[in-house]
Amino acid sequence: MAQWEKRFIYSRPAEERVFLSRTPVPGAVCERCGESEIARYPAANHQGPRIITRCQSCFHIVSVRRPVADDMWPPFRAVAYDWEPSFAERRGRDEQTRD
Ligand SMILES: [Zn+2]
Repeated sequence: MAQWEKRFIYSRPAEERVFLSRTPVPGAVCERCGESEIARYPAANHQGPRIITRCQSCFHIVSVRRPVADDMWPPFRAVAYDWEPSFAERRGRDEQTRD
């Protein structure tokens, strides 16, 4: 299966319950509380889909970034999600922000 197909074709979950895994970040230390229990996981907030790295002890956010294709987040993302905008679209955005 091609890489782009993995983002659009999902099989039915085999697990009884679907859950989110928080991936530990080895070697990271929280700058607020000093704990080393740091985890990375996908989230959806007011900015859209993001990958958040957060301290699991005090919930301090270490970093927030836009997901890349390998993150598989968000599921069912649009085919054109990562495409560069066309010249016409960029021009339209420039005109909107000029006012
Ligand atoms: Zn912390």
